[in-house]
Parts: sequence; C-alpha cells; structure tokens
Amino acid sequence: MKGSAPLNWRRFPERYNLHGSYCENCGTAFFPGRAICPNCRRKGKLIEQDMPRTGRIISFTKVHVAPSGFRHETPYHLAIIELENKARVLSQIVDSEDKAIKIGAKVKKAFRRMGQADKYGTITYAFKFRVVD
Ligand SMILES: [Zn+2]
Repeated sequence: MKGSAPLNWRRFPERYNLHGSYCENCGTAFFPGRAICPNCRRKGKLIEQDMPRTGRIISFTKVHVAPSGFRHETPYHLAIIELENKARVLSQIVDSEDKAIKIGAKVKKAFRRMGQADKYGTITYAFKFRVVD
C-alpha cells in the first residue's frame, strides 16, 4: 500500500478519534485529555479513554468571518457539544440545515476534510459533528 495517509491518522489520535481521559476517582471525563484531574489533584487516577460519538449542542454560533484557512467554508456553525459522558467539545457542525442546529439538538461525530490542500498537496482531516434526528 502506498501513501502516508494511514500513518498520519495514527499520529493524531486526539484529533481523529476523540481520544480523551477519564478520572477513575471522581468519574469525570475530559477532552482533550489531561494529565491531572482538576477535581482530585493528586488523588485523581486518569486513564485514556475514547469519547462517545454522540452528544447534544449546548451552545452554538454562526461564523461569518473565519480565520485564514477556513474562509472558503464561511458561513459555518461552531458549537459546544456535551458528549454523553459530559465531556465538552468545541466543533464545527456540518451537513445540517440551519434550522436543525439548535440548543439540545442531538449530534453525531462525522469525519471531514478540515482544510484545503497545502503546497505539498496534503489535505488535513478532523472530526466534526452533524445533527441527527
Ligand atoms: Zn477526579
């Protein structure tokens, strides 16, 4: 098999797989993962954990003026999503009608192209979320 794309995927587990951490002492999940539990400090016992793929929108905004690299995508929606384990993720919402994007809407992780090809032809991908019924 040629190409380095599969290798790149494995190098960024956090970006692609919603890899975070979970404190076995207080039961709190964190994304991105943390080295120290802010609730338990030294008593905390953090383990690596994959985050759930579904959650709900708790806050969102429509972005009209985007940072460089995202201008071709405007306008787009950016949302704070509370996953089923209560960890919160900031993510772009894709493939969803404007009227479906609202607080409380159920969302599911989707895998999307993140930017345009750079001068080496590399296209980056990342997780995003879409509204599901
Ligand atoms: Zn803890």
